Amino acid sequence: MPVSLPTKVGLFGGTFDPPHLGHLRAAQAAASQVGLEEVLFVVANDPWQKSDQRVVTPAAVRRDMVEQLLEGQSGFTVDDREIRRGGPSYTADTLEEIHRERPDADLFLIVGQDSAATMAATWQRPDVIFDLATVVVVTRPGGALPKSVLPSDSIYVEMNPVDVSSSQIRNLASRGEPFAHLTTDAVVQFISTRGVYVGAQ
Ligand code: ATP
Repeated sequence: MPVSLPTKVGLFGGTFDPPHLGHLRAAQAAASQVGLEEVLFVVANDPWQKSDQRVVTPAAVRRDMVEQLLEGQSGFTVDDREIRRGGPSYTADTLEEIHRERPDADLFLIVGQDSAATMAATWQRPDVIFDLATVVVVTRPGGALPKSVLPSDSIYVEMNPVDVSSSQIRNLASRGEPFAHLTTDAVVQFISTRGVYVGAQ
């Protein structure tokens, strides 16, 4: 009788304000190197570590932009459970929910080097996160990461660093400067037609 292996599911959480090529390349590198069958882009409702520092674009708009980013990317989907749940978005709650829904899936949490460096110290209930998912770290320019801060079974993905951040795009877009080289055509089109960052700080 054939033995069916658990489905390998990646979760990639973020504010995605806006989503960009760094996000896409990070998910692609993680998916191919870890052998993920699916990657869920989990859009934070209230990114509590950021929302006290600046005005964050409404969650529904960020979700729509991620949909644009993922157009034509097979195996990558938007997951808006944190928006439907409301309130501050905690990855531990999200992992518990997904684990309850899909107890047979093997869960992998994809994080950039910068987030990986602080998650054990600053995220809510890191013990739950480390228990329910394997951490997959992707390289990010400027990110330094002592390996001792993460569980020993964490996976470090090789990727050509993509020097892009959402803040960089917000700054360029708000000044009316070009940013098309930093994200996909569909996202550029969405931002430009809706004027998402017009007047943004
Ligand atoms: P901001 O500039 O507003 O702080 P950001 O570009 O860091 O935003 P987020 O949506 O906060 O984007 O990031 C979500 C996840 O994607 C995090 O784990 C982050 O480390 C990772 N990430 C973001 N940009 C890159 C990149 N260029 N390369 C690799 N990982 C990235």
